[in-house]
Amino acid sequence: MYLASLSWSKAAEIGNGGEIVAVLPMGSLEEHGPLGPLGTDHIIPHEMARRIEERIPNKALILPTLPYGVTPALAGFPGSVDIGYEALCAVLKGCVDAVLRCGVKRFLFLNGHGGNTAAIDTAALYLYHKGGQAAEIDWWVLCGQLRPEWMCGHGGGVETAVAMAIKPDWVHMEDLFESRVVHLSPRLKNVHIHNVEFEGASVKMVRDVVDSIPSGDAGYGDSPSRANAALGADILDAVTDYTVRFIEEFSKANLGAGRQ
Ligand SMILES: [Zn+2]
Repeated sequence: MYLASLSWSKAAEIGNGGEIVAVLPMGSLEEHGPLGPLGTDHIIPHEMARRIEERIPNKALILPTLPYGVTPALAGFPGSVDIGYEALCAVLKGCVDAVLRCGVKRFLFLNGHGGNTAAIDTAALYLYHKGGQAAEIDWWVLCGQLRPEWMCGHGGGVETAVAMAIKPDWVHMEDLFESRVVHLSPRLKNVHIHNVEFEGASVKMVRDVVDSIPSGDAGYGDSPSRANAALGADILDAVTDYTVRFIEEFSKANLGAGRQ
């Protein structure tokens, strides 16, 4: 069920059984390469949550999607919004407190953006210390674990494909151009957004992405050129199926296990 659809008096009763899992779809509004929409990171968890609600309406309590996140290194690209770690922590704790007041102690952060993880960890432990338990599913990590060929880079083929499956009019394949990466030296080559490779090992060297990857797509082997809506639909089905099964198991977990 959707939290936003309930009256406060109905919301007060939803936690009575103790098994319902609150689900917060969340992401970011940020650049996704030359052809991906700014909304990629939040439209995907939003669609997953919509499907979860259809499948298990009595096990999942869906909160409104949070479209903004923590993305300071991408803020140099027009249209990207960075609300910062403190702001996201405050919002997440507010959501946690709200569902606790409904008697709900299980919380799933259904996340579409890596920069949100530190704030999610903070809110998750906050909930734990109030007797609850949180889980975080990063769908783009999950899909690479389900199928190696679905390994995902920022603004790459996987993200673009899933965005196409949800919002075909928002992806413009005709805008595809060669990815540009600016290496710091011939032996310090960018191998991920904030990592360079030196003598076979990886070292973190943070820069504004507009300086290191001016094209904005950081697929590193996951090129946006491989995106198509059928691929995106398969990935969306697989990550949603997994998440539904996870919620069913999470709803039965013993939240008192091991607590001191
Ligand atoms: Zn993304």
